[in-house]
Amino acid sequence: MDKCSFCGRERKDTNLLIAGISGHICDSCIEQANTILDEEFKKKNSFDLGDIKLLKPAEIKEFLDLYVIGQDEAKKFLAVAVYNHYKRLMQVTEDDDVEIEKSNILLVGETGTGKTLLARTIAKMLHIPFTIVDATILTEAGYVGEDIESILTRLLQAADYNIEAAEKGIVFIDEIDKIARKSDNPSITRDVSGEGVQQGLLKLLEGAVVNVPPQGGRKHPEQKMIPVNTKNILFVAGGAFDGIERKIAQRLNTKVVGYHASKNKDRIDTTNLLQYIAPQDLKLFGLIPEIIGRLPVLTYLHPLTRETLRRILTEPKNAIIKQYKKLFSIDEIELNFEDSVLEYIVDKAVEFKLGARGIRSICETIMIDTMFEAPSKNRKEITIRLGFAKEKIEKANLARLKAS
Ligand code: ADP
Repeated sequence: MDKCSFCGRERKDTNLLIAGISGHICDSCIEQANTILDEEFKKKNSFDLGDIKLLKPAEIKEFLDLYVIGQDEAKKFLAVAVYNHYKRLMQVTEDDDVEIEKSNILLVGETGTGKTLLARTIAKMLHIPFTIVDATILTEAGYVGEDIESILTRLLQAADYNIEAAEKGIVFIDEIDKIARKSDNPSITRDVSGEGVQQGLLKLLEGAVVNVPPQGGRKHPEQKMIPVNTKNILFVAGGAFDGIERKIAQRLNTKVVGYHASKNKDRIDTTNLLQYIAPQDLKLFGLIPEIIGRLPVLTYLHPLTRETLRRILTEPKNAIIKQYKKLFSIDEIELNFEDSVLEYIVDKAVEFKLGARGIRSICETIMIDTMFEAPSKNRKEITIRLGFAKEKIEKANLARLKAS
């Protein structure tokens, strides 16, 4: 009589009994085995730092190059900081007293130049928990908004509540410039969104054991707090620091005057003053010195030029044009774009001052009707031509595009 070789059930007691060379397996044992497999793989795949091959900085940069166009300085700084961070995590505490300090990073650059993309790409490469938080939602405890601890709630969630993994994750704090003190005057009366938040953040950056509400927020007062140690969490902060160029220019000028004035002045490239950013500029902008000290790796991004935008359209591994082609190829349609269409998309992004983010909405406007109709038509090849693209953009509500 046929029986499941795993649980012993007879054929009549199973929904399905599959025969092997020298045995049988029933449907419920297959299901159980599948669950075991899933769990084992999950364990293996999820954030196992032990398995991480420590990539050299140049290799890290190469990986970033696949997804992010240009921004070589920022890539270099990030690559070195991440490399050192991992060396630090792997260091065995010896008695030589040399402790490698954490290298949190501050990326300064206009919005839409790739700060988040860089941090996201690094996290993708490292297979470690990663979360993005917007500093503007943070307030001091007791005020409307989110407590600082909510940053770690999100990291825990990204790590599927694997605390050990979360403690080695990366947090990207966006818009850190928005929590700057509104004035460089420390005696200014309480400012809820500024210095208080910076003080709170400081604790996380320095490394502390923080009690984190696993569900976040204050809506679940009964929840059991989870202690999370931030010592090995890498923080990458980003901000546009609007207007900081003026402070940089002032500093450069005062230095230049009376010190080989003409010679030095010639060397200053005024097209992107951010490249000269220094900690004292951040202080003048309203970050407290302690925060600046805890973000020791300071680097900058370039504004996107027309040429960079053009490359962003087609070159990155998941460039938007590649994505459209893939979408159509699933319907077995070969999609092509005239070169002039790509140039036109870039022109519009520049004209509407939309930057890289705007490229997507421009493309969608051009592509929507084609994406709607193509699957029902039996075409093997579609080429998007300039006249067609122009017509779509001109017909579309331009005001909507500009506002987005
Ligand atoms: P921010 O600097 O404001 O964080 P993001 O990284 O969010 O900007 O960039 C917005 C989008 O623009 C990205 O998702 C990406 O599609 C595109 N982008 C911006 N800069 C670059 C770049 N240097 N290379 C490739 N894509 C970019």
